[in-house]
Amino acid sequence: MEVVSPKAHGGSGEGKEHEEDGENLAAWLLGIQTLKIQPYHLPSLGPHDVKVRIKALGICGSDIHHFKTMRCANFIVKKPMVIGHECAGIIEEVGSQVKSLAVGDRVALEPGISCRQCNLCKDGRYNLCPEMKFFGSPPTNGSLANKVVHPANLCFKLPDNVSLEEGAMCEPLSVGVHACRRANVGPETNVLIMGAGPIGLVTLLAARAFGAPRIVIVDVDECRLSIAKNLGADETIQVSTNIQDVGEEVVKIQNAMGSGIDVSFDCVGFDKTTSTALNATRSGGKVCLIGLAKSEMTAPLTPAAAREVDVVGIFRYRNTWPLCIEFLKTGKIDVKPLITHRFGFTQQEVEDAFETSARGGSAIKVMFNL
Ligand SMILES: [Zn+2]
Ligand SMILES: [Zn+2]
Repeated sequence: MEVVSPKAHGGSGEGKEHEEDGENLAAWLLGIQTLKIQPYHLPSLGPHDVKVRIKALGICGSDIHHFKTMRCANFIVKKPMVIGHECAGIIEEVGSQVKSLAVGDRVALEPGISCRQCNLCKDGRYNLCPEMKFFGSPPTNGSLANKVVHPANLCFKLPDNVSLEEGAMCEPLSVGVHACRRANVGPETNVLIMGAGPIGLVTLLAARAFGAPRIVIVDVDECRLSIAKNLGADETIQVSTNIQDVGEEVVKIQNAMGSGIDVSFDCVGFDKTTSTALNATRSGGKVCLIGLAKSEMTAPLTPAAAREVDVVGIFRYRNTWPLCIEFLKTGKIDVKPLITHRFGFTQQEVEDAFETSARGGSAIKVMFNL
């Protein structure tokens, strides 16, 4: 199963291809804070699949959860798993039925394979598919590997002026784009963002691209707020971690906005950030819950419910890659300032990269160049 028969490859250079198959390496999560580069035998290439040589991969908050605790929400790592999911690369081989892509194409990969059969899939809400197989979410292997096999219809060709690193950034950016779609952000939507980490920042970029005229962003970390300011936030507000300050901070936030807050995105998911969002949002507005810090959230819902504030849940994204690529191609969104650290793909660098990302602080997006 590891080695595809020479006939399946066609063309010249089959022998070489064989050798390379044997050498495919991946970063395996073996235990808490234990990543090892080891061989990864790929599944065989189906007629609708492509083989992609991964060139850029970003570390996500969920990868860090897996790395630190072997779990993320209800997903538990029970056996060794290849980590990583935010990636882009170059097509190296295409399945017999693939017409849309060719060897040498540069592509960004959407990480989740849905069943396409269930009611949610048929309804177009495939991100909610219960059978979803998602890179680096147990038990599905991820994509921090030299090569992966993936369905062609989840690989999106990058224009010449969009780099592979930017292609990998389509994954986190997709979360912001999906959230803005769910909240109907447009040119008349004043937006509050709780949290200036990677997801808060991509939500900021997406909200601006969707036309939001005024965006206020809130965090405890001064350094992250200054990044948000540089990325175009109209106002930044530093807050405490003390829940008793909610009332006072809500007034500050509302004053900074200057008019009603139509949509609030909670990109953190602590009781305090959710409370702040629920209280700060105008009557009839929306609160989108993007960050889910723990399995049970406690926030006073009654006052918000009585003001008809809608609470909207967000899970990953759907059908976002084409729009993300369009935003990057036209320069409407620049994700490059989010990439703060770069590492190669060696055992030492994999360890250093995950430690850097886990430390947080000035590290926004930690990227591998493979
Ligand atoms: Zn991610
Ligand atoms: Zn499904």
